[in-house]
Amino acid sequence: VTFESFGFATPILQALTNSGFNKPTPIQAGALPAGLAGRDVLGTAQTGTGKTAAFALPILQQMAANPLRPRRFATRALILSPTRELAVQIEQEFKKFGTGLALNTVLVVGGVGRTGQVNRMSRGADIVVGTPGRICDLMSTRNLIIDQCQFFVLDEADRMLDLGFMPDIRRVVAQLPARRQSALFSATMPKEILSLAEGLLREPVRVSI
Ligand code: AMP
Repeated sequence: VTFESFGFATPILQALTNSGFNKPTPIQAGALPAGLAGRDVLGTAQTGTGKTAAFALPILQQMAANPLRPRRFATRALILSPTRELAVQIEQEFKKFGTGLALNTVLVVGGVGRTGQVNRMSRGADIVVGTPGRICDLMSTRNLIIDQCQFFVLDEADRMLDLGFMPDIRRVVAQLPARRQSALFSATMPKEILSLAEGLLREPVRVSI
């Protein structure tokens, strides 16, 4: 398999080349066809396998194919991460591959002031990457609106569970529109994660590496 075979928009292919991504990793080869076809994905994969691009590239490709201006404080895609550090890495990957698509990508994590994040949300976001606590905080003040969010990703779901984020995640999921594309990635699939996935994903394609 090659990245060329997936039909990515030219700016995305260019960014892949510039980043030295010559060939999809196994999780990418498994998950990209489903994601690009608009299907939900349930992925079992550890960090370091290339899972970020496996969920980011289909979202970026669909945004490239269908540019829309988000409403004030609304987002078109929401990515939840268990830690700030991982959220930063995910945001950087979206920015790297989204270069040339003129997207507004906003990082919404704790430990820094919320004012800058609220200001960036005021233009409307294409992509929000964040941690559950601060995401719920901005949602509660209507500075983050997800009722028309088209893409939702829960990354490292087992760590989310370990860190006690399930109540926040359920609060977020309850406000997502029914019509959306979702993905859940986890290194392990304990029964709590599988039952969460059942409520979150619709006829998911399972990819495991
Ligand atoms: P991840 O598992 O998403 O955190 O990715 C681990 C590292 O591998 C990151 O530094 C990625 O930029 C890199 N990476 C992911 N996919 C590829 C690929 N197809 N070719 C080269 N490097 C990659």
